[in-house]
Amino acid sequence: MTARLPAHAGPETRGLLADPLLHELGHGLGGPYHVLLPTAFDANATAFQAVFGESGVDGRVYYAKKANKAAVFAERAAVAGLGVDVASRGELREALAAGVRGDDLVVTGPAKADELLRVAVLQGALIAVDALDELDRLNAMAGELGRTARALLRVLPSVQPHSRFGLEESDLAVALARIGGSAVSLEGFSFHLSGYDVRQRADLAAVLVRLCSRARALGLPADSISIGGGFAVDYVDGADWRRFGESNRAEHFHAERRFGGGFYPYHSPVAGADALRAVLACVPAGESVPLAEMLRTANVRLLVEPGRALLDQAGFTVFRVQGVKDRDGYAILTVDGSSLSLSEQWFDSEFLPDPVLVPARPEAGPHADLHPACVGAATCLESDLLTWRKIPFPAPPAVGDLLVYLNTAGYQMDSNESPFHELPLPPKVVVEPTADRFRWHLDRRPA
Ligand SMILES: *Cc1c(COP(=O)(O)O)cnc(C)c1O
Repeated sequence: MTARLPAHAGPETRGLLADPLLHELGHGLGGPYHVLLPTAFDANATAFQAVFGESGVDGRVYYAKKANKAAVFAERAAVAGLGVDVASRGELREALAAGVRGDDLVVTGPAKADELLRVAVLQGALIAVDALDELDRLNAMAGELGRTARALLRVLPSVQPHSRFGLEESDLAVALARIGGSAVSLEGFSFHLSGYDVRQRADLAAVLVRLCSRARALGLPADSISIGGGFAVDYVDGADWRRFGESNRAEHFHAERRFGGGFYPYHSPVAGADALRAVLACVPAGESVPLAEMLRTANVRLLVEPGRALLDQAGFTVFRVQGVKDRDGYAILTVDGSSLSLSEQWFDSEFLPDPVLVPARPEAGPHADLHPACVGAATCLESDLLTWRKIPFPAPPAVGDLLVYLNTAGYQMDSNESPFHELPLPPKVVVEPTADRFRWHLDRRPA
């Protein structure tokens, strides 16, 4: 049987799993739903900001909005004094409506549409320029509007030379030459790396600090660098993750399914704000002092754009078991939603942390053995399973039980949701603890 992979749960989540509210919401909403926990978001934001405070580094946290479409997190970001990283007109509009000020936005993404650039310039947003032609369009746009555009130049990372994002060295030189005297004000440089490597981020950050000196020598202001996102989230315990890796076999999955995309690293020993702390403490390649000291000495501000890490423990997804079918040695559960509410299948992979079974009826007593089951969707597609892995449940799942996928706020819950099969999109319910109970409201209240 497959190894158990219990998901870490924050205090709000643990409280809710034992609270009648989950079944009540399932009954009231009549289908699957997402729970959003803004208090966890606030705690993560505070932890990131504290790292800047304690290191004496002038820093700024921008919440990467693409990680979740909810309004509440952008609202919390505005209140907490975070900026927001947006990459489309829709995201920009949502951030402004949530109360984020235009000059607290950073606009990222490749080849940004003119409409996006225009609103960004008018709002005084910081714009991460990804290519020379985009720089020219931005300059023309700012000129027409009679404004100055605030820009960072996004750098192609030498450690990820096949990335489609960023300017290569020769383009950077051209960009620096073009910016002088233009309608574009160069505030610094940026990158965003795939993966979670701390050292790669510190090394490249140091390169960007040196680029700031080079730009300043040309008379450009260049006083900020953005190292993007990619601060890991720790979903499961290290020992469980190791046991899973060592014992994993095709027969642990329905239909012996294999995943070409491999699996996301669900365990990370250094995660969230601690990963930022580690980046700052790292002595970059070719340098003699930690990154934090380089930034302080050079008077360069550090911008970070965490998405997933700000959403750690900030939400989960609830389905109801609609059917249970017995197969040889395991059960096939069918829940009332689809795998589109868990995004990992985009990557030919699946979301591995064990969902939690919340029984409809109180337990008769502890069960001695485990009850493996995979989890299928309420659709007619053979391949639409939320979990192919035969999860070892502590009790036999029954119709009416809830199946709760924990820690889904970062990218899992809504990045590829669709009303396929005319199934409604799961509503988002914001839940906050008060002194004696949980209060809830819809993320987007009925108008
Ligand atoms: C996606 C993205 C982020 C956020 O990445 P996380 O891994 O969620 O922290 C930040 N910056 C840019 C430019 C991005 O594209």
